[in-house]
Amino acid sequence: MSKDNGGSSILAEILERLDVSDDTRKMLSRAQRRLEVSVPVRRDDGTLSVYRGWRVQYNDVLGPTKGGIRFHPGVTLEEVTDLARWMTIKCALLNLPFGGAKGGVQVDPKELSGQEKERLSRSFIRAITDIIGPDRDIPAPDVNTGPRVMGWMVDEYSIIKRQQVPAVVTGKPLPLGGSAGRVEATGRGALHVLDVWAGRQGKKPEDVTIAVQGFGNAGGNFAVLAQEAGYKIVAVSDSSGALHAAEGLDPAPLFEKKQSGDTIGDLGAKGAEQIGTDALLALDVDVLALAALQDAVTEKNAGDVQAGMILEIANGPVSPKADAALAERGVQVLPDVLVNAGGVTVSYFEWIQGRSGDYWGAEKVDSRLKERMLPVAQHCFDRAEEDGLTARQAAYAIAIERIAAAIESRGDSCYFRQ
Ligand code: GLU
Repeated sequence: MSKDNGGSSILAEILERLDVSDDTRKMLSRAQRRLEVSVPVRRDDGTLSVYRGWRVQYNDVLGPTKGGIRFHPGVTLEEVTDLARWMTIKCALLNLPFGGAKGGVQVDPKELSGQEKERLSRSFIRAITDIIGPDRDIPAPDVNTGPRVMGWMVDEYSIIKRQQVPAVVTGKPLPLGGSAGRVEATGRGALHVLDVWAGRQGKKPEDVTIAVQGFGNAGGNFAVLAQEAGYKIVAVSDSSGALHAAEGLDPAPLFEKKQSGDTIGDLGAKGAEQIGTDALLALDVDVLALAALQDAVTEKNAGDVQAGMILEIANGPVSPKADAALAERGVQVLPDVLVNAGGVTVSYFEWIQGRSGDYWGAEKVDSRLKERMLPVAQHCFDRAEEDGLTARQAAYAIAIERIAAAIESRGDSCYFRQ
């Protein structure tokens, strides 16, 4: 959660700036549905643990709601609400036929065995079954939930419904109807946005140095793809430590080791030294890619950032107060709702494939993702320049105008406004 303001100030600010109806302001000022559930899990030792979980559907005017489910000890209803609001903006910005949602369970998955994690995933789906579905609300992976968890979730839903329902969840394993390219999609989408930014700055990839905070699925894939595209990755970190090599490092072997269970704090690389995770945030690089959790940069450490641009690969990694302080210092922040939208965009492709039964190859997925992301990124940066806005303000303006047009076309669902 964005601790310094509850995470809704940017939405309120842009709603104020735009010429939208009162209906729109009222509809978007709060979530449509916030469901709190108990998630009972039988532990391997026979005892029962009951966790708190939530699913928040923020707004569905553009279509069924869409958004991930996270397992994390810090999850709260407020955080899930912020994340659902951001999904609403993200889907609208990308012009996907979806509203926004998010789910979360307050649990430390590191303390669970594999079987306990499976029971947890199935239990959470049982708890929220009544409000999800391919035409209602479609969960997906998020922090600490990947294809494996999505496989258990789609299976549980199909057991409850007594029929195969592949399109109820995205980010599934390939054999269960997942989409080619979904695992790398968030990192790949971030790279497309970076390419557009670099092109507009007249910078070549080889002249751009990047530090990557967070080396999970999104940050790891981004680092590998960016390095392949010619960018210079000079540092990577996870919660255990950071590696820095001024001459650049090869993230691919590190990511492979990380995926098989090693942590950055224990790894080495040619020409690289271990530095503190905070020191990574303060490196003198062109781009600081934030791919871990919310509030990595707050008003407390915003002054330490030396990078010229921040690429928000995680959701909400720059707090609103830090965002304002960075803007004042001329540090550009490319916003999460644009930068990490590759994930939900390929989720959309997976949903289409699940409904039609026509599965696409990786090339088609990747080229469709690129076709969608490049013009949206250009549009955001153009709008920011034309209206003297930050990229985040521009992204919100484009998204809200789209949502507003739908709200105003629909009326208030009882009586059309004259
Ligand atoms: N959890 C991801 C996000 O925050 C993906 C959501 C989805 O694919 O529905 O964008």
